[in-house]
Amino acid sequence: MTDPHLCADIHQDAVDALASQLTGSLFTPGDPGYTAEAVAFNLRSQHRPLLIVAAADHADVRAAVRFAAAHGLPVGVMATGHQPFPLADRFVLITTRGMGAVEIDAARRTARVEAGAVWGDVVEAARTAGLAPLNGSSPGVGVVGYVLGGGLSPVLGRKYGWAADHVSAIDVVTADGQLRHLTEDSEPELFRSMRGGRSNFGVVTSMEIGLFPVTSFYGGGIFYTAEHTAAVLHAYRDVVGRAPDELTCSVALLNFPPVPEVPEMLRGRFTVHVRIAFLGEAEEAEKLIAPFRTVAPALIDTTGEQPYSAFAAVHQDPTDPAPYEEQGTLLATLPGAAVDTVVARTGPHSGSPVTVLEIRHLGGALGESHVGASVVAAREARFTVWGATVGPPEVTGAGTEVMEALMAELRPWATGRTYQNFASRETTADDIFAPEELERLRRIKKLYDPANLFRVNNHNIAPAMDPVTADAER
Ligand SMILES: Cc1cc2nc3c(=O)[nH]c(=O)nc-3n(C[C@H](O)[C@H](O)[C@H](O)COP(=O)(O)OP(=O)(O)OC[C@H]3O[C@@H](n4cnc5c(N)ncnc54)[C@H](O)[C@@H]3O)c2cc1C
Repeated sequence: MTDPHLCADIHQDAVDALASQLTGSLFTPGDPGYTAEAVAFNLRSQHRPLLIVAAADHADVRAAVRFAAAHGLPVGVMATGHQPFPLADRFVLITTRGMGAVEIDAARRTARVEAGAVWGDVVEAARTAGLAPLNGSSPGVGVVGYVLGGGLSPVLGRKYGWAADHVSAIDVVTADGQLRHLTEDSEPELFRSMRGGRSNFGVVTSMEIGLFPVTSFYGGGIFYTAEHTAAVLHAYRDVVGRAPDELTCSVALLNFPPVPEVPEMLRGRFTVHVRIAFLGEAEEAEKLIAPFRTVAPALIDTTGEQPYSAFAAVHQDPTDPAPYEEQGTLLATLPGAAVDTVVARTGPHSGSPVTVLEIRHLGGALGESHVGASVVAAREARFTVWGATVGPPEVTGAGTEVMEALMAELRPWATGRTYQNFASRETTADDIFAPEELERLRRIKKLYDPANLFRVNNHNIAPAMDPVTADAER
C-alpha cells in the first residue's frame, strides 16, 4: 500500500527499496517514531521531512543521498538540532544520532569522530589520553556541526584557534553519492570549503580532529546581582583588554524565568554571569581577573582549579531541549559606548525579554590565518555578541525585535559579518562570508553540487551561475 503521506511522484516501491538497503531506519510521516526522530534540541525546529533516514553508517548516508538525487528532493542533515534554520517539509532528512563512535589516537593527538558524536563523549575519550579537543561550551552539542561552522572553544580557542582549522581529514558523501576522503592533499579546495561551508557540499560521515595536551584549567563562573550590570561589563572590558591568549572570559546577562529548571539562586531574577577559563596557575589567573573580585560582591562564585572534563562549569549551558530563537553579530572592538548600548537595550531596566545576552572575547589564535586555514569568516572580529530568547512565539518574537535593534545600534563597531554557529534562522551566506570568499565557495558548490541538493537546514551557498545565465538574470 502507498503511504498517504508520500507525494505522488515517489513510489512506495522506491521507498521500500531504500529501506531494504539500510542498516539504520527509515521513517515517513505516518510512522511511529517519525516525530521522535525529527525532534531537535531547539523545539522550535520541528521539520516535517518527506523521509527521514536515521543513518547507522556511511552506506546509509550514500543510499539516502542517491535516493534524494534520483527523486529531485533536497537533503538536510541533523545531529542534535541545536541550530535553528527555516522550517522545511519536502526534503529527505538524514539524522546521524546512530553514528556516535569516537576513537582516540594518542600518538598523533587526533580523534576520529563519527557524524553523530557529541562533545561530552569526545572530551571523556580524550581525557584518558591526557588530551583535550577544541570543544564548545556545552557537552551536548554535535561535534561535526560545531566544527564545520567554525568552532569557538570557550577554554582553548584563544590559545589554539578555531576548531575548523584543526581538522586533518573529512569523510563526506557528496551529491553524486560518492564517499570522498578529504585532506590537505586530496581535493584540498573541497576540504577547505567544507570547514566553514557546513552541509553545503555534502554529508560528513566522520572527521579527524586535533587534540591538545590540556588536562586542567583555572576557572568557573562568578554571578552578580542586577544592580551591578554596568559596572561588571566595564570591568569585563578592563580584563579582556589585558588578557593573554591563555585567558578567555565571556559575560552573560541572564534573565531567567521563574521555572523549576533554573537553579533557585538565579530563578526569576536578572543576574550577570562572568565566565572565566585560564590555562595556567591560580595565582596568575587571580591577578588577571582581579577587577572581577573588586567590582561588586559575588552572588555565586565557582572559580577554582578544574579538570578539563569540568569545562561545562564555565558557561553552565542548559542541557534540556527548549524552544528558542537566537541572533548574533561580531564586533571589531568593544568600547565603553558599546557596553552602554548593551545595558540600555538588554540590561535589568530595559524590559527586554532576551533570556541570555552573551559577549565572548575572541582574538589570540582566533585572529590568525595561515595557509590551509578553514573559511571561517570571523578572524578580524574581537567579540561575539549573541542573544537567545526562550519561550512561546510571542516572547521569542519580542526578543528577536530587541536583538535586531541592539545589533543595529552596535553596527558602528561591528565587522559586518555573522559568526555561523551563532547565527539566526534568517541569516544567509551573504551575512556570513565576505563577497569574494562567497564567490569562491559558489564555484566549488557548482563543481560538487550543481543542482543544489544540499539546500535545506543550512545557510545555503547557491551554485555559481554560468556567465550566460548570470547575464540573463541581470
Ligand atoms: C547550548 C549551546 C551552546 C553552544 N556553544 C557553542 C560554543 O561554545 N562555540 C560554538 O562555536 N558554538 C556553540 N554553539 C552553537 C553550535 O555549535 C551550533 O548550533 C552547531 O550548529 C550545533 O551543531 P549540532 O550538530 O549540535 O546541531 P545540528 O542542528 O544538528 O546541526 C547544525 C548544522 O550543522 C550541519 N551538520 C550537522 N551534521 C552534519 C554532517 N554530518 N555533515 C554536514 N553538515 C552537518 C548542518 O548544516 C546542520 O544543519 C552552541 C549552541 C548551543 C545551543
